[in-house]
Amino acid sequence: MKNLTKQRIQITTCPCGNQQPYRQCCGRYLDEGEAAVTAEHLMRSRYTAYILDRENYLLETWHPDTRPISLQLTGQPQKQWLGLTVKRHTQTDADHAIVEFIARYKINGRAYRLHEISRFVREQGIWFYVDGDILEN
Ligand SMILES: [Zn+2]
Repeated sequence: MKNLTKQRIQITTCPCGNQQPYRQCCGRYLDEGEAAVTAEHLMRSRYTAYILDRENYLLETWHPDTRPISLQLTGQPQKQWLGLTVKRHTQTDADHAIVEFIARYKINGRAYRLHEISRFVREQGIWFYVDGDILEN
């Protein structure tokens, strides 16, 4: 079977691996405009946004100080995302959090792992992705 279509993802388990339907998980943030309650929710929704090629969502949830102008998702070699594992979510104070995760993907049949510790900040009740450190495994 080929890639899931976007239509199909709507009724199946959320791509972020949270064992919930997409609509009740990342769909609330990607499609309904709800603010993510925690940095982990935001991180998961951003992973799902990569899968769904939702560049606008990725840019909107990126802190303005570190936000790139464009992600050019379509110009890059096509990643096939395989899964997300959230290793750690720590809220370091009221408005700062870190999320450590491993995302697995394939490019042209070759498997890769992205192991990152991401930093998040909350401003006026809204979480933003700031930046991250990529760990070598
Ligand atoms: Zn989700």
